[in-house]
Amino acid sequence: MILFDPVWTALLYLAASVCFILALKGLSSPRTARRGNLLGAFGALVGVATVFLSVRLDNIPWILGAIAVGSVVAAPVARQVKMTQMPQLVALFNGVGGGAAALVGLLELAHADDPWVRLAIVFALLVGAVSFAGSGVTFAKLQELMTTRPVVFPGLPVLMAAVLLAAVGVGVAVVLTGWLPLALLLLVLGLVAGVLLVLPVGGADVPIVISLLNAFTGLAVAASGLVLGNVLLLVAGTLVGASGTILTRAMAAAMGRSVAGILFGAFRGGSTAGSTAVSDRPVRSSSSEDVAVLLGYAQRVIIVPGYGLAVAQGQHTAAELAQALEERGTRVDFAIHPVAGRMPGHMNVLLAEANVPYESLREMGEINSEFRTADVALVVGANDVVNPAAKTSAGSPIYGMPILEVADARQVVFLKRSMRPGFAGIENELLYEPQTTLLFGDAKDSLTKVLAAVKGL
Ligand code: NDP
Repeated sequence: MILFDPVWTALLYLAASVCFILALKGLSSPRTARRGNLLGAFGALVGVATVFLSVRLDNIPWILGAIAVGSVVAAPVARQVKMTQMPQLVALFNGVGGGAAALVGLLELAHADDPWVRLAIVFALLVGAVSFAGSGVTFAKLQELMTTRPVVFPGLPVLMAAVLLAAVGVGVAVVLTGWLPLALLLLVLGLVAGVLLVLPVGGADVPIVISLLNAFTGLAVAASGLVLGNVLLLVAGTLVGASGTILTRAMAAAMGRSVAGILFGAFRGGSTAGSTAVSDRPVRSSSSEDVAVLLGYAQRVIIVPGYGLAVAQGQHTAAELAQALEERGTRVDFAIHPVAGRMPGHMNVLLAEANVPYESLREMGEINSEFRTADVALVVGANDVVNPAAKTSAGSPIYGMPILEVADARQVVFLKRSMRPGFAGIENELLYEPQTTLLFGDAKDSLTKVLAAVKGL
């Protein structure tokens, strides 16, 4: 059944491409992100429908069956996944995309007479396989199916170099001959390279590598678009490749690291994860009532949300507390660090869900100078993103990462459950400073108690 002629097909692909571009634009701000997401999904629907209505497909039952299986697996997973497990889910979906691009390359080799097309196939095959295997390892790390620390062994750099050299050699041979067994060998080399690439990456760097692999998948998909002569795949893949690269660089910059340092740091012996030792030095802790008094009589409060707020699902209570304080005449802002939580934009999503007004969500660059005018910085389940070790301790895994300057506030209150460190596994000296008070407990419980006490003032 062919309904659309090539002109209509091209126009519909163009419309879908515009949807993707507008979707990315929408995703750049919390205010428009939901609309952007819907627009992207609509573009994908237009793309898939256009393929069905413009190409003579021989295997429609198989294709529909594959779509059904994919939907039955993916939809419940996407619905049920906890926000804190989102990076693993992205890794999984991304890996599947890379694997699909590699399979397209493999299947198209039989029809590829032109060496340029075979070059695109080699690219899709190799990069797609790297992305598939690398994403699988990042998933295993984040899901704690294996150690989250860097895995290195003697000879790893040499092995990696040998695999890459072999891949280049086999790739050239595939371009020249188009021989399928060599393409299969290239696929295996790509899978091994993907595993070796990600094994030495550990701790806080793993989500950055997911973003990098996401960019790889985009490029592999773009190459498969070239192979199939499909403009929409080419555009969509290029957009994913470009946005993944920008995100990778932005995340690396927010952590004060270079992408090369993240990928090859462990080769040089630098671990990206610190220790998890807990110190027993004395700290000042107080009750929820005392914290309520501190907040209730403050003129300016800055709330710093972190991973612990997401785990405790305390965002609604945090929003209520902010509102209760504002009704008492206190100015309240939320200070958002770009890598607070476990994925980019984690805190924006969390607080938007709790209907915190967008103008109260302040980016690090603009709020940092305002901490010195704050009476209280209320740190809710955040640690690394406020840890002064990032500035002072040259050997620390977070050294060089820009932080929220909570130490400039007159009082600092930490809501956390224990003295355990954060994701990077390093102690926070700020916990022991004289202006710091700790309220121990689950973030949501503590916020609920503080809120009740503020209302009773
Ligand atoms: P951290 O992981 O540094 O600290 C989280 C804090 O929350 C801990 O102090 C923990 O202490 C506390 N906590 C955990 N559960 C609860 C709970 N239920 N109630 C109260 N407190 C709780 O988080 P940050 O947000 O400060 O930093 C994010 C880290 O993740 C950074 O190192 C960043 O580099 C890394 N990262 C972030 C990415 C991103 O894109 N956002 C990507 C990659 C890495 P306790 O156990 O004592 O309660």
